Amino acid sequence: MSEEEAYEFVKGTLEEEGIVPFHDDELETVKSIENCINCGLCINHCPVVASVGLDRFSGPRSIAVQLTRSPPEYWATADTIYLCTGCGTCREVCPKNVDIPEIVNIVRARIFKTRRDLVPKGLFGVHETLTDYRTAFEPWDDVEEKEASRDMRIERLGLKFVPDRIKDEADVLFYPGCQAEERAQEVREAGKMILEHFGINYTLLEEFNCCGLPARLMGDDETARSLAADLRRKVKALGVSQVVTTCAGCTSSLNDIARRDEWGVPVYHMVEYLVHEVGLDGVRSALKARSDGVLKVTVHDPCHLIRHTSRQTMQDALALLDAVPGVEIVPSGVSDSCCGGGGLVAYHAKDVASAVTQENVGGITHTEAERVVTPCPLCTAQIEASLFRDGSSIEVDDLSVFIAQRLVME
Ligand code: SF4
Ligand code: SF4
Repeated sequence: MSEEEAYEFVKGTLEEEGIVPFHDDELETVKSIENCINCGLCINHCPVVASVGLDRFSGPRSIAVQLTRSPPEYWATADTIYLCTGCGTCREVCPKNVDIPEIVNIVRARIFKTRRDLVPKGLFGVHETLTDYRTAFEPWDDVEEKEASRDMRIERLGLKFVPDRIKDEADVLFYPGCQAEERAQEVREAGKMILEHFGINYTLLEEFNCCGLPARLMGDDETARSLAADLRRKVKALGVSQVVTTCAGCTSSLNDIARRDEWGVPVYHMVEYLVHEVGLDGVRSALKARSDGVLKVTVHDPCHLIRHTSRQTMQDALALLDAVPGVEIVPSGVSDSCCGGGGLVAYHAKDVASAVTQENVGGITHTEAERVVTPCPLCTAQIEASLFRDGSSIEVDDLSVFIAQRLVME
């Protein structure tokens, strides 16, 4: 047997056993495990461990260690690997730069490819939606009902309806994300209102599609790449020079795929766009207080912004809030802890996601805040549901909605 034949034989055997070699672009991440000094900092800071204990979730270090073993052994981690919310805290605190959140994605991709029977059943619903409709949420059957729901939301929140702008020649693509397209429609409307108010030449996509983040989180790299490729094609065809989104998850995901697939245009969260492109003075002069009193507001920092994009985005968010008349910012002490809504955990282990949210909400209810504000519709929904269950009177607003409500209308 020649060397080449021997190589093909070994490769064939490995494939039969579902053992797939790491790609070059995965090796650096995988090798980061070798630097682990077992300090345990990642375990001490993991919000899932803090919420449900090591018996339920064996923790970040154990995920890393499992990957150093052979595939059948890390397949055995399937019951815990899907409980990671992908918050990124372990990577942030690790003194040796072990990239556990990315290792989680690599392991999930391998399980999805070779042992799909181990993927939690709860994830197949969202997978089907993604492959059937190219968005993470099933579109409304009845467009009129969808519009009625939108109108009800904007009326309740005191927002102004701005017709959709879909044009060939625009400077900015406004990408609201799946949650705001199909569920939290008030965030999409707020985004349009803000861009319109500041005279931005923007467009929406004629045919929206997901950025691919949920597919990537469940391990379906093929669908994730196909969705990203669709989006790249649309961005290129539009010829826009900037992309703006109101979603924290989309901000980090779009930044990643734009860099990887060489879109050649920057991606901003709305808060960054307002502070750096419109300018804080311009924003400040366009805002007014909603009532005579002072509203005490606390802030939740989405993991996808502070740990997957840049902490500067939340500095921008705070600068914006500070510019709103009649608002007093109250620190919560848990502003940068995970809301539990990430990593698709809520789709198959609601109790775990809720336990993480509960830790977060506990810190919020100990403040004097009357309102929680966060620049992410997913975090908004997660925290809102938990406060509601607790019977709390604290309201939750997406930051784009909060800003749009305070624009001085002509
Ligand atoms: S990414 Fe977050 S939830 Fe996942 S292991 Fe790390 S700290 Fe825990
Ligand atoms: S924080 Fe980093 S070095 Fe410490 S145990 Fe966790 S992975 Fe290892």
